[in-house]
Order: sequence, then C-alpha cells, then structure tokens
Amino acid sequence: MSEGVRVRFAPSPTGPLHVGGLRAALYNYLHAKKNNGTFILRVEDTDQKREVGGSYEYIEKSLRWCGLNPDESPSKGGDFGPYKQSQRKNIYKKQIEILVEKGAAYYAFDKAEDLEMHRKNHEKKGKTFIYNAHNRLKLVNSLSLDKKKVEKLLKTVPYVVRFKMPDNKMVVFEDEIRGKIEVSSRELDDKVLYKSDKMPTYHFANVVDDHMMKITHVIRGEEWLPSLPLHMLLYEAFGWEPPVFAHIPLILKPTGKGKLSKRDGEKFGHPVFPLEWRSGDEKHLGFKEFGVLPEALINYMALLGWSKEDNKEIYSLTDLLGSFEIKSVGKSGAKFDFEKLLWLNSQYIQKMSSEEIIKRFSSINSGKKFNLTKEAVDLIKPRIERLANIDTDFNYLFEAQEPELALEKKLLNDDSRSFLKTYYNLLEKSFESASQLKEDLVQCSKIGFGKSMGAMRLCLVGKLEGPDLFELMMFLGKKEVMKRIHSVIA
Ligand code: GLU
Repeated sequence: MSEGVRVRFAPSPTGPLHVGGLRAALYNYLHAKKNNGTFILRVEDTDQKREVGGSYEYIEKSLRWCGLNPDESPSKGGDFGPYKQSQRKNIYKKQIEILVEKGAAYYAFDKAEDLEMHRKNHEKKGKTFIYNAHNRLKLVNSLSLDKKKVEKLLKTVPYVVRFKMPDNKMVVFEDEIRGKIEVSSRELDDKVLYKSDKMPTYHFANVVDDHMMKITHVIRGEEWLPSLPLHMLLYEAFGWEPPVFAHIPLILKPTGKGKLSKRDGEKFGHPVFPLEWRSGDEKHLGFKEFGVLPEALINYMALLGWSKEDNKEIYSLTDLLGSFEIKSVGKSGAKFDFEKLLWLNSQYIQKMSSEEIIKRFSSINSGKKFNLTKEAVDLIKPRIERLANIDTDFNYLFEAQEPELALEKKLLNDDSRSFLKTYYNLLEKSFESASQLKEDLVQCSKIGFGKSMGAMRLCLVGKLEGPDLFELMMFLGKKEVMKRIHSVIA
C-alpha cells in the first residue's frame, strides 16, 4: 500500500471545466482515495492574459456537484499552499535562480522580432529554427555574451530564462498507461521557463509545484505527454525525484474524429460542461441543467477509457474506489457517447425514489411552476432518461396532445373508429381498474389487440409511446380518457 499518495488536479482558469478536465479530476480523486491519499486542487494561473473571470469558482462548484471534493485547495488551504500559482511568485524566482546557478538554465535577451527573423530565414532554406545547442551560441544570451555585458543587460532590458537543453541525450521514462517512452533531446528546444513579466511558464511552475507539494502521481491528459521529456529533464537538473506519470487518452468527438472540444456541445446537441456556464454573451447549458445526474456523469466518465474485464457498467463512486486502477486505463482515445450516458442516467433514475426524483426535478427547474406528482413519477420512472425534461417528454400526462398527423393517417380508419366508439361506450359504463379496462378492450377489439392499443395510444398520448396503457388510463381518470377519445372520433 502506497501511503502518502498525493495527487493534484491542476486546471488553468481559462473557462468552464470541460468533460476532459472532469475526467482527469475524477481519475486523480479515485487514485488518491483508493490509496488513502490526498487530492489537491491547484490553480495554474500564471498566464494571466488567458484568465477568464469566474472560472475558478465554476471549477470548484462543478467538482463539488460531482462529489469530488479536494482535501487541499485555494479555498480550503493546506500545508503546501498557496494553491494558486499567481501567489507563489517568490518560490519560482528562488528556484529559477538556483537552476541558473547550477548551469541548467540561462538568461536570454533576444528580441521577439530577431527570433522571428531567424525563423523566417530558416524556413526559406526549408529548415526549422530551434533555439538549442545548434545555435544558442549565435544568439543573445548569457552563454554567448561575456559576464559584464550580461550583468548590464539584466539591469536594463527585458529578459527570459531558458532551459539549457542537453545536446543529443536520450530521455527515457515510464508512463503508467503508455509504458516506456524514449525521446531524443535533439528534437527539443531551450524552452522558456521564466518570462520577461517575472512569471514562470507552465512547465517550470508545474514541475516546481509538483515537487514542492510532494506530488507522488501526476495523472493528466495525453495532450501533456509531449511536455514530459522537458519535465523529466527539469527534475534531473534540480536533482529531484520525479513523480509517477500517467497520461490519460483523449475524449474524442462522437464521430470519433478529433478531440471533443468546448464548442462541440453546440454542434452535437449535448452539453460538454458539468454546470451551466455564463460569461458575457457566452452561455452553455451544463449536464445538470440537461437533467443528467452527477452519479451518472461520474459513472460514465469513469467508463470512458477504463473498463474492468467483467464488463460491469454501473459503478457508484464508492464502487469505483474498490475497482478503479489507473494502470487499466486504455491507451486509445474514447468516443463520447451521449446515448450511453443517457442510458446510465436512466439506470440511476430508476433506482431513485419518486420523491427524490421530484426533489431533483424541482431543483433543476426552479423557475417552472409545474406540479410533478408522485403518481405521475411512479408511472413513468422506467422511461425517464433525464430529469430536466420530464414535463415536456411526458407532456401527455398533464394535458391532451394533438395526435401525430402521419400516425393518425396510418391508424385511423373506419375499423379503428368503430372500435374506439365501442370501447368508449364500455368505458362509460365501468371504469374500475387497469385489469378491467384491459379485459373490456380485449372483448371489443375485433381489429386485433395491437391495432386497438395503437388507436388508444393515438388518443391518449398522440404517438406510439408511453407507459402501460391501462395504468395510464387509471392515472388520467375516466373523464380525461373519455374526453381524449371523443376528440379523436368526433
Ligand atoms: N494547467 C494544465 C491544464 O490546464 C495542467 C496540466 C497538468 O496537469 O500538468 O490542464
């Protein structure tokens, strides 16, 4: 048992939490809790130009809604804070100076336009300009200039700190999901670690914080895998032991082509964010407002890329703590399948009491004046796929619906009309119980049971769906049933 497991979810506050981020948070949470470890929320806000107001609050709220509460976070605090990178500037300043002293990083004074010119000149020759061992001595930095000049420039012009990428070194590392990976440092550049605005870049702050916060396992999206060689070399340069890494595969669009993006929600007609997001003119519905339960979303997110051999599909958060293994996460991207999520959602809804369904429906639809009764929910429970739309998906429970025209044409003829009339007359005489209603229908259905049921559904529902017909009739009551049949045959 690995005691002292510490993992972090480290989003940048650049907008709402996307399902990809949510899944990374979930896998981190599961790995921590399974090992009696600590789940940390760290906000990576060093690129303040990209920061979007309200993102951090949104991320916290979404994690809370899903039951993934951090043990240490900006609002909760902890022994390794601050947990917002923008409040850790002194730490980065000290560490970057250490790295320069060690000779693993250096100051660079190149102007943006000069670098651009180098890039263009290389391009003209069909080459790619890489700032590294091949040409760093021809550029303007503390490795190419004498000490005096460097000291002067440090006081007078803006500068960055670059990593001194070793020349021609094989970087070899293990990823829990992908196994052994080898990358030659020849293809890597002298990445900027510290910017002219005295802020660290993502790479530098990320590595320093993971070390300082005693992170044991880094579980994050596959898009960060290309950064790992640099991160490993930074650990080596500092003389620090790196954490264990696990890069989880991408969530793909429902079509399977490309990564599911923030804009795909609109495109495919389903949410990609846990909760509603509003910022300026931007507004996106969340899974919550769409009527998806957090239990179902968590279950679905866990299955997206991970599955146990027994093909079990229903996992509560507690079940997941018993079963989830980061090592069994698959390597290939997983298609986002909204239908599957809805199916899981309906499984959770069926297990819920009708009272609980009503409570959750009202909390989502607080604005709607709609009286959802226990009797109605009892009747339709197995058919509910999402909570938000009970009133519209099952509108026929609450008011008569116009029959679908095409269906009316198909089902209404002299025979079915005559059946409906006879049944109507029988119902007028007695309307006792579901079983009696069924017996009466059988008795007068010369057109056959199936066709009679179809004609009745047309009258009561407007289409060929809905719960048990006779239970539905009992729910609607004699007066309403007679009224609906009458309006079709009249
Ligand atoms: N700040 C990065 C992000 O927004 C974190 C990557 C990591 O977990 O290392 O996803």
